[in-house]
Amino acid sequence: MNKPDLSHNHYQVDTANPHIILADAQDRLMLMRLVIACPAGLYQFQPDGSLHFDVHGCLECGTCRLLCGEAVIARWRYPDAGQGIEFRFG
Ligand code: SF4
Repeated sequence: MNKPDLSHNHYQVDTANPHIILADAQDRLMLMRLVIACPAGLYQFQPDGSLHFDVHGCLECGTCRLLCGEAVIARWRYPDAGQGIEFRFG
């Protein structure tokens, strides 16, 4: 089965009001879940061990929210109207 090509999608990111905000207190095992499970690969450990997260490219699937809840994800909501992902298949 072929993997979907996400490069055709279009994103309108509200950088001033991101739809996902991480909590300050972060359990490394919980963060590892995010790195492994996010289908868009938006959670990545840096060489210094810190976690880099960029909301740009989010598929709005909710996986991170379901896996970690409020202990790690301080805010998860759908983007405002006109923001977020526009799926394009091709
Ligand atoms: S909602 Fe899905 S795509 Fe977006 S950051 Fe969470 S796991 Fe990744």
